[in-house]
Amino acid sequence: MPEKRYLMTPGPTPVPPQVLAAIAEPMIHHRASDFRSHYGSCLERLKQVCRTQSDVLLFTSSGTGAWESAVVNLCAPGQRVVAVTAGSFGDRWVKLAQAFGADVVPLRYAWGETPDPADLRAKLAEIGGAPVAFVVQSETSTGVVSDIQGFAQVAQEAGTTLVVDAVSSLGAVPLEMDAWGVDVVISGSQKALMTPPGLGLAAVSQRAFAQARGVEQPRFYWDWEKTRAAQAKVDAPFTPAVSLVIGMNVALGLILDEGLETVYERHVRLGRACRAGIKALGLELFSPDEDRSAVVTAVRSPGGLDSGELVKVLRDRYGVTIAGGQGDLKGKIFRVGHIGWFDLFDIITALTAIEIALVDLGADVVRGAAVGAAVAAFQAA
Ligand code: PLP
Repeated sequence: MPEKRYLMTPGPTPVPPQVLAAIAEPMIHHRASDFRSHYGSCLERLKQVCRTQSDVLLFTSSGTGAWESAVVNLCAPGQRVVAVTAGSFGDRWVKLAQAFGADVVPLRYAWGETPDPADLRAKLAEIGGAPVAFVVQSETSTGVVSDIQGFAQVAQEAGTTLVVDAVSSLGAVPLEMDAWGVDVVISGSQKALMTPPGLGLAAVSQRAFAQARGVEQPRFYWDWEKTRAAQAKVDAPFTPAVSLVIGMNVALGLILDEGLETVYERHVRLGRACRAGIKALGLELFSPDEDRSAVVTAVRSPGGLDSGELVKVLRDRYGVTIAGGQGDLKGKIFRVGHIGWFDLFDIITALTAIEIALVDLGADVVRGAAVGAAVAAFQAA
């Protein structure tokens, strides 16, 4: 039998067949009216998913590119900014802002800790304020999801512009950009938005646009103003990734047809099911055992086993791809993603495969209990 592959990482994620079919359509020209209808619809749907009336700027890039756009539009060299970091991506934003000459004050936590908005309040008070603060909503390296509403409140009190990394969380867990007063939301196509990698986005509040106009920092491709002005005419300043835009428009339609609240609820249940199954196997969770941890479940590797070995056996012997640990957590944890086009049966497959592979590797696991626990947790009211 040809190998069957199961993609269970927190990005890229599986892409629904409707989206793949749309991407496979013959190429059309990006200035033609038929593309504009896909593009206009995609931009409008992005606003709905970000829950904003403001512009969502679309870039041909990965999420990091969209993040760089926030830095070059909001941070002048030497300007003080605060970056909240509790994992790999928080650390990346510290480095990225430093690369553009910002005076970055990190608000640092151990990997796996949950950042607390009260600590940002204290840090801003200690340093006499900062015009910009960066925070990650879903720290994909640890499975922690932060309280963005709380961070937005602190930022507003301090008059600080809040930039949120929602790369792995947009479309999976609630993020109310306008209602919570978030200034900038950054994301990418390849996670809960169920589209292949290649599109980055920055939802930008009017306040953040105004702030950017006063920031002197060299920028061209990432200049928010260029993309904003073009998008206002349902156009793009540079050749967009035509097929990906067409695909993402379909994916966003699927999300909005299901209903954002229903999508969030499904992710909560998927997270519960995965955690229940992992615990029933006799394994220890690394990510928090809480409903908002609905993006990725991180698990401590049992009995000193190198989690990289588990990832390898799953992939090479069973066609199942999960993620290992990053940074200091390399070899120590493994991560199962459950964002986007996932249902209960995906979780059951992941748990069953993990059980089989751990037994292959001689680990001590409870056999036959994970599936029942996962189903019960998924179905519980
Ligand atoms: N931020 C988070 C939370 C992520 O999970 C990722 C990707 O894994 C990124 C940023 C970086 O996105 P990209 O790899 O698309 O540049």
